[in-house]
Amino acid sequence: MIILDGRPVPARGSVLDTCRAAGIELDAFCHDDRLSEGGHCRACLVEVEGRCMAACTTPARDGMTVVTVSERLLAYRRDLGDLMLAESRPSGAVIDALARWGAGGTRYGAGSITTPERVTVDHSHPYLRLDLSRCILCRRCVRACDEIQGQFVYAIEGRGSSSRLAWGGGPFMDSPCVSCGACVTACPTGAITDADRERPDVATKTVRTTCSYCGVGCQLEVHASANAILRIDGVPEAAANQGHLCVKGRYAHAFARHPDRLTAPLVRRDGALVETSWDEALALIAREFARLRGSLAGLSSSRCTNEENYLFQKWFRAGLGTNDVDCCARVCHAPSAAGMREAFGTGAATNSLDDIERADLLMVVGANVTVAHPVTGARIKRAVLRGARLVVVDPRRTELADMTDVHLQLRPGANVPLFNALACVLVEEGLVDREFIARRVAGWEDYEAFIRAHTPERWEGATGVAAERVRTAARLYGRAERPMMVHGLGVTEHYQGSESVMLLCNLALLTGAVGRPGVGINPLRGQNNVQGSADMGCQPDLLAGYQRVDDPAARERFARAWGRPVPEAPGRRLPEMLDAARAGAIRGLFILGEDIAQTDPDSGRTRKALAALEFLVVQELFLSETARLAHVVLPGASFLEKDGTFTNGERRIQRVRRVLDPPGQARPDWDILCALMAATGWPQRFENPGAIMDEIARVAPDFCGVSYARLEGDGLQWPVPTADHPGTAILHAESFPHGRGKLTRVDYAPSPGLGPGLTLTTGRVLEHYNAGTMTRRTPNVILVGADALEIHPRDAAARGIADGDRVAVTSVHGEARAVARVTERIAPGVLFLSFHFPETTTNAVTGDVRDRVTGCPEYKVTAVDVRRL
Ligand code: SF4
Repeated sequence: MIILDGRPVPARGSVLDTCRAAGIELDAFCHDDRLSEGGHCRACLVEVEGRCMAACTTPARDGMTVVTVSERLLAYRRDLGDLMLAESRPSGAVIDALARWGAGGTRYGAGSITTPERVTVDHSHPYLRLDLSRCILCRRCVRACDEIQGQFVYAIEGRGSSSRLAWGGGPFMDSPCVSCGACVTACPTGAITDADRERPDVATKTVRTTCSYCGVGCQLEVHASANAILRIDGVPEAAANQGHLCVKGRYAHAFARHPDRLTAPLVRRDGALVETSWDEALALIAREFARLRGSLAGLSSSRCTNEENYLFQKWFRAGLGTNDVDCCARVCHAPSAAGMREAFGTGAATNSLDDIERADLLMVVGANVTVAHPVTGARIKRAVLRGARLVVVDPRRTELADMTDVHLQLRPGANVPLFNALACVLVEEGLVDREFIARRVAGWEDYEAFIRAHTPERWEGATGVAAERVRTAARLYGRAERPMMVHGLGVTEHYQGSESVMLLCNLALLTGAVGRPGVGINPLRGQNNVQGSADMGCQPDLLAGYQRVDDPAARERFARAWGRPVPEAPGRRLPEMLDAARAGAIRGLFILGEDIAQTDPDSGRTRKALAALEFLVVQELFLSETARLAHVVLPGASFLEKDGTFTNGERRIQRVRRVLDPPGQARPDWDILCALMAATGWPQRFENPGAIMDEIARVAPDFCGVSYARLEGDGLQWPVPTADHPGTAILHAESFPHGRGKLTRVDYAPSPGLGPGLTLTTGRVLEHYNAGTMTRRTPNVILVGADALEIHPRDAAARGIADGDRVAVTSVHGEARAVARVTERIAPGVLFLSFHFPETTTNAVTGDVRDRVTGCPEYKVTAVDVRRL
């Protein structure tokens, strides 16, 4: 107990915490519950045993006497307020507090000791606004940037009255800021704010929903007026993001009201797409689909909700009579699902994002997390700054590679020999968990003999990684108590993608690093609902809930629920659909929210396939590269304009809630799909997406306990087998669904995509998402306005290429053009190019090599050359 203003109260944490728990609010400008102690502003001064002390940095101890109101404190606060007003002109909560304190700036004169540096206004950034005249040097922004994002943009420069907030000189736009907005949420004075917060409009509603830009599944608080998004904040208590957001989730919302939005159905007449009515568009699709029945295929969207994906495959299977249905998981994480299903029995993340903070070693494999999954990237940075060890496996020196204990900078395409070499060291050096293997793993005897031959020394030439580095990394992984892996498309988008995932599973099985907190294997899902679209059965061989289409009992279950039979034979995968289109076997294709003309590999071949179709329908937000080729374009709704659910990379099913009305005649995609099903002869009776989820819960065992009523707050992580099941944070705690975990023996098979010269690998940048159709219609284009080709100085010099030169990258498939960025972040012999801008034509260069198990394209290995234009 402490004596607080004369009454005994329990001591809790700091004196400030104790005061707040006792209902006494102290002004504390530099304090933020998310951050380390401040103690800079002195606003929360109290008298402790008669001495003036900052309440936020003083631990509360039993027996202490604390006074929060006294003549001395009032005078002190007034004086402090006058000093603040002499140095700055704060706004917001701070100016309100100063007024309460009776500070009027008269004692020293308002602005009297302001230096020229302290009046800097910087509006160079498209989102962030800095006005240092408002800064009271509380350092909340500095700590937010350091401790939430791990970016270290800000510092306090100078001494005394010359002290000022600094970001490394030059305009703020040139700073290393990643535009996450953590500093904006921390600043109490308005010195750092953003363009959204400066809008005069008043929010009339605040809606919690789920970000649609990546598989982290950050929870958003969207503040809106009648029909415009005003500002987006993170939901502080959300499990996926704990209030944090990235530049896309927080700021890239202008696309929703962009004039390019499709607002009416379009049909092709005399070669041009022209507006038409819904009735005419639906009737045309019904006529053409009836004519082409037997040669139809559908590609669903990982940007759409679970309910929409479920309806899509239901329509194609039981309505149109074909299992030729797939989704973009095919071109990203199908190998993760296949590889993990083979090893563990379930093809999804074993653990939760929270476990990143429980791990004592993180192994990040083929994933540029701070770019593609920025909030998870920040979480990994925080874990490392707090002491977790880090191993990065990546051909590029990524931001995380700069923080690593060991960076294994392997050659693209060399995952299999590297992962085998890591396993070899674990076995050779006795870093395996024999008790776990004996109890829960199959295939050890054969595997042990096999893997001992795969020494790091044997594979040095293939991987390009020194054997000793591999040994160091393996020892770090093998000796950690809680080693956790996260992996990305640098593992999956390869000729041996699924097999590479199996080899990562081997590492976890060998060390017993699965089925408990802080360990496991966690594929980082790229598109926001790629997990969900696969869960919902948008795969040619799997129905909703991963029930096999070639299993008569599963087909029977769905046929009973749907009242229509399910076709028996597994359908074609996306690349096979395109092959079939070129061959004339697929004549009609429906594409929901994917821009395959830009994002699929070997775009020359993709375009030929699309051109060969007799009838192409695209449902989209914008006239994408693919939509331009369509016979009918239907205007869908963005995630801000509809209800439903997304499932993030940790299997967490979260609500999506409507904030705005769709523009013009655009409609929520689930509503369009219901209309299409009715037009093609199978009307549905769903009042809303919640009713669709109720049907999903009836047919998919892992979702039996899911209902909208149970998805409030943080949602549920599947499996949720019953209505009172709490969801599953960690898979395989006691056993694997198929009994024992399976060790897989895989020999290295060099990719046919490798050549003797340069190797191109492709990927994303932080500011843009996938085909860029959304982010290119936001101020994010001011931050990054074009794709750039990364090239090592040695390769650049050999070809006379200087930083900033326009270059052409050529392969046997085609040519891409971009500006060269000469950097040592890329290894010699390797090039990197993103694919967000259609004019770059990145995927004209990538080839037709596919993962041997799932058909996932090998985006990460293409033999190319490059020349200056
Ligand atoms: Fe959205 Fe992903 Fe950024 Fe979170 S990390 S705000 S989910 S894009």
